[in-house]
Order: sequence, then structure tokens, then C-alpha cells
Amino acid sequence: MQFDVIVIGGGPSGLMAAIAAGEKGAKVLLIDKGDKLGRKLAISGGGRCNVTNRLPIDEIIKHIPGNGRFLHSAFSIFNNEDIIAFFEKLGIELKEEDHGRMFPASNKAQSVVTALLTRLENLNVQIKTNSPVADIDYEEGQITVHLNNGQCYTAGAVIIAVGGKSVPHTGSTGDGYAWAIKAGHTITDLYPTEVPLTSSESFIKKKELQGLSLRDVSLSVLNPKGKAIITHQMDMIFTHFGISGPAVLRCSQFVVKAMKKWNLSEVTMSLDALPDKKEEPLFQELQKIIKAEPKKSVKNILKGLLPERYLLFLLEYNEIDPAIQGANLSSEKIRTFTRSCKQFEFKVNGTLPLEKAFVTGGGVSVKEIEPQTMASKKKNGLYFCGEILDIHGYTGGYNITSALVTGRLAGINAAAFAKNK
Ligand SMILES: Cc1cc2nc3c(=O)[nH]c(=O)nc-3n(C[C@H](O)[C@H](O)[C@H](O)COP(=O)(O)OP(=O)(O)OC[C@H]3O[C@@H](n4cnc5c(N)ncnc54)[C@H](O)[C@@H]3O)c2cc1C
Repeated sequence: MQFDVIVIGGGPSGLMAAIAAGEKGAKVLLIDKGDKLGRKLAISGGGRCNVTNRLPIDEIIKHIPGNGRFLHSAFSIFNNEDIIAFFEKLGIELKEEDHGRMFPASNKAQSVVTALLTRLENLNVQIKTNSPVADIDYEEGQITVHLNNGQCYTAGAVIIAVGGKSVPHTGSTGDGYAWAIKAGHTITDLYPTEVPLTSSESFIKKKELQGLSLRDVSLSVLNPKGKAIITHQMDMIFTHFGISGPAVLRCSQFVVKAMKKWNLSEVTMSLDALPDKKEEPLFQELQKIIKAEPKKSVKNILKGLLPERYLLFLLEYNEIDPAIQGANLSSEKIRTFTRSCKQFEFKVNGTLPLEKAFVTGGGVSVKEIEPQTMASKKKNGLYFCGEILDIHGYTGGYNITSALVTGRLAGINAAAFAKNK
């Protein structure tokens, strides 16, 4: 059977592409290798699906450090507010949380998946699950998609929406890169982003801080000269292998890039546990409260300054006995302690593997994609959307936003291309 549009991959980008093409009246086939569609979407946002973000467009673009600017023209056609309106039309009410993050009011990612599947059904999009695509043949005027089982389907336009290589049990195993190369595309270096960092520091190995969460701290990645490349103020957590949490995920790609750029085996991070206070006034303040309580133990005087485990850790790090009385603590010690509250430096030596990353960095080069249509500049009738593209955002709804926006454009334009042939 001849289709107008074949969409390969039923993640958020492919689901949106199939819906958009169906809404334009195209005869659409959606193929996925898994038994269910939207498997990554269903586990996204801790099972709640952070489906988009309500910050202004310029902010959204800033939060997509991997080629966010490429999305400028796409956002002028379909953007985060359009995503919100789209889901509301499907009966999915969204609510805003901190940092503009939008979630379904039900708190259930599955409700988002179900709404998309219902829409596909209403549009009579044909769906083939359990059908891994093996290869694609590009001929002038027609594209043929070959399944692993030997079946093949042809269409006027094909949309590749098979995602990146992260969390492969959801189906994203990087199959699409070979098809893109075959079409003449460049794949930029693939690397893990939004990924926990590993460290061989002895306090990590000894699990001294394992499980400790620090709220609203400022974490920086330093270059070899000790200057901050990037700083993120958010929460973080110490783990048995290193560090994780929102601030760490955001810093992770800069660690990967720094290791590559300067050929480093380790990168220095700097942790400011009290980002709202400047170092000198903090020193003066600590000096004053310590000297005001000459008989009290330092541990008790400083109670509440930092989470207790971290306070004790920093005291020990500065060789300060927590039981020492205020009167017996030298100004010099107070100064070094203050410094480590503001700039505790430690080394990280890499990340968890790409398979464990939230997002894949790198992918189909955006230089070879039309920014207003998601059409390949290499093959007529070929379109790309979602994480297979060299676009990646921070956690916070930016990646699903990018998948839905690029999916929408790919679907609309693939349908127009196929129907106008
Ligand atoms: C645990 C986790 C939580 C996340 N939470 C969020 C969040 O809350 N907000 C956010 O913005 N981002 C989040 N992300 C990132 C976001 O989920 C992804 O960026 C997004 O799913 C990418 O969409 P996609 O459509 O490009 O690809 P995917 O969702 O990866 O879908 C690709 C689809 O293609 C199919 N496929 C692959 N190969 C083949 C083949 N050979 N033949 C047929 N089908 C194939 C797969 O089965 C899969 O269904 C999260 C990621 C993870 C891992």
C-alpha cells in the first residue's frame, strides 16, 4: 500500500509528526519497533512528563544549549504556548510548576501518551508496532522503508524520528544515524548530556556524603586556568559514584566538552553552598558569631548554616575539630572554612555512559536541515525531528518541547510535500 507519509519512531517527535501529517489529510503510516508507542515519554519527568516550559521563547532557546538558536524560526511557527493549547484541545490540562515547567494536571505521563494515541486513532493514522525498521532506500520521487522482517513500505515522504541513543530499553538505540549517513547527512559527535558525573575523589569513594542533597547551590565547571566555564544554581546530590541532581545534569555537557577540548582526564568543579552571600561579608559574619560564643562548640555555633553532614564534612576538610570552642578557633581557620563554603573544589573524571544519560548530545547536523520545515537538504521528501537531530536542551521540559516542535513542522511539511508531488 502506498502512503503519503511514513513516520519512523513513535516518541514525542514521531507521534506529533504523524498527528500533524494526518491533520493535513495525508495518508500516514507510523512504524515503531517496540510493542508500545511513547515508551520514553511514559517514563519522562519521573513518570509525570515535563511536557514543555512556559518561559518566554528567548529563555527557552537559552535553555537549549545544543543548537537552540536553530529553533528560532520553528518557534515562530509552533512554540511552547502552542504545545499547551494543543494538549488542552486534546483534553489534557497542564499546570505550571517552578522554573516554568509544565506538567499534566493529572501528574501522569501516561495521560499525555494516551491523548496522543487517541488523536492518531481519530485521524486514521495506521500504526505498526513490533516492527523494527532495518533500512531506507531513497529513490527520486519515492522512499522505501524496509523492516527487519523483510516487509517494505513506500511513501512520497519519510520522517525519521527514532531518537538518540540514551536509555535504549525504551527503543532509542541510535538506528537512525546510519540511514541519515546513507542519505548524505553528517552526524556530529555523539556524547552523553544531562547525565550524572563520576569522581574518584576519596570522599566520594569512601561514600562520606552519599545521599546528601544540597538545595539551591551554585555549581561551576572550571577550565584548566581555574575560571568558571559555566555556573548553575540549582539542587544537587552526592551519590556512591559521584554527583547528580539538576545542577549537575546541567553542568555535565560542559564537563564532557572540557575533557575533550583540553584532553583532560579530570575536570575541577567548584561548589558554592551559600551563593547568596559574598565571601568577605560571610567571613566577617562567621567571625563575629564564633567570637560572640567563646565557650560554645563550633559545631553548635554554626548549626543551621549548612546541612549538618556537609558542615561536619567541611569542618573536617579544614582540619577543624567540631568540638573546638569558639574562643580557640583562629581567624585563619575561619577564613579557610569560609572559603570552602563558597568554593569547595573537587575533581570529576567523566560521566555515566550515554545509555544512562537523559539526553544524547550531537546527531544529524542542523546545518543540513531546513529550519522552517525540518526537511533534509540532501534528499527530497526526507525529514528529521526530535533527539536524532543535533539539538539538546537542559532538563526542564526543553527536550520534549524540541521534539514536539520539530515533529509538528516535519509532519506538516512532509504531508504538503507528498500531496503536492
Ligand atoms: C528517564 C528520562 C526522563 C526524561 N524526562 C523528560 C522530561 O520530563 N521533559 C523533557 O523535555 N525531556 C525529558 N527527557 C528527554 C525526552 O524524553 C527525549 O528527548 C524525547 O523522548 C525524544 O523524543 P524523540 O521522539 O526524538 O525520541 P524517543 O522518545 O527516543 O522515541 C524514539 C522512538 O523510535 C523508535 N525506534 C527506534 N529505532 C527504531 C527502528 N529501527 N524502527 C522503528 N522504530 C524505532 C523507538 O522504539 C522509540 O519509540 C527524558 C529522558 C529520559 C531518558
